[in-house]
Amino acid sequence: MIHKGSCHCKAIEFEIETSLDKIMQCNCSICIRRNAKMIMIPNENFKILKGKDNLSLYQFNSNIAKHYFCKNCGIYTHHNRKSDPNGMGVNLGCLDDLNPMEYDAGQFDGRKI
Ligand SMILES: [Zn+2]
Repeated sequence: MIHKGSCHCKAIEFEIETSLDKIMQCNCSICIRRNAKMIMIPNENFKILKGKDNLSLYQFNSNIAKHYFCKNCGIYTHHNRKSDPNGMGVNLGCLDDLNPMEYDAGQFDGRKI
């Protein structure tokens, strides 16, 4: 299924193609702070529709993972994963067509990686 998503100020719009069966929360140092449920998808199933220039990139430690957020409203939209270079996590709360509170998230022990 195709789901459309956006940051809070709508400067960034994107779409993902996915079933909703890989919803995770992670306990690594950054995920635990932003506390978002994430849908895990392959890189090729993510497409920015609008506002690429509004994305800011945050990296730390190994600088492998790429954490993106809107430079205007500050909302985390997606990230490229350290543990899986071909995969990414997308902020479930950014998807326009669903309520993240209705979905249970599995736990990813990112603190160990
Ligand atoms: Zn924004």
